[in-house]
Amino acid sequence: MAYEKPVTSHRRKWDKDEYEKVAAERLEEEQRLLLEKDKKEPPIKRDLLKPREYKVDLDSKLGKSIVITKTTPASHQGGYYCNVCDCVVKDSINFLDHINGKKHQRNLGMSMRIERSSLEQVKRRFEINKKKVEEKKKDYDFEERMRELREEEEKQKVYRKEMRKERKRKAEGDLEQDVDPDMAAVMGFSGFGSSKK
Ligand SMILES: [Zn+2]
Repeated sequence: MAYEKPVTSHRRKWDKDEYEKVAAERLEEEQRLLLEKDKKEPPIKRDLLKPREYKVDLDSKLGKSIVITKTTPASHQGGYYCNVCDCVVKDSINFLDHINGKKHQRNLGMSMRIERSSLEQVKRRFEINKKKVEEKKKDYDFEERMRELREEEEKQKVYRKEMRKERKRKAEGDLEQDVDPDMAAVMGFSGFGSSKK
């Protein structure tokens, strides 16, 4: 009688259900840990990128000479020193690049994200710009008006002067008419006006 060895598989049998359960549990645990970590250290909240409110000094040291030794602190060495990052940048273009850059902004506590303007803000800005234009126009109108007034005054002045001259001429003319032309010639003021006619 042949002894029949029971057929045994060398392959390990996985209990599919069992392992699915374990996997699900592990996933759950991982997610729980992640949530806990989030609670413990909230993500660093950085300010949104803002426009600079100061003028960058790029040329105050232009054309000046300074002596630099091995012990000269970085802030007094040649080039552009950034006191936020404590580094020296060699030229103005790179300095501007640096202070506009991610690393510098991060050191300032700003992210590179910019604020998204709301419709309200955009409307308000439009309103402000419109007012500015109107203000300018008003200023212009005022200037124009003043100029016209001055011109008018000038014209009036000239006119009054002419009138005075005219009156004077008339008065003199009247005077001359009283003098007999022959008499006037004799008296030596023949050229007094009437002869000019
Ligand atoms: Zn910097």
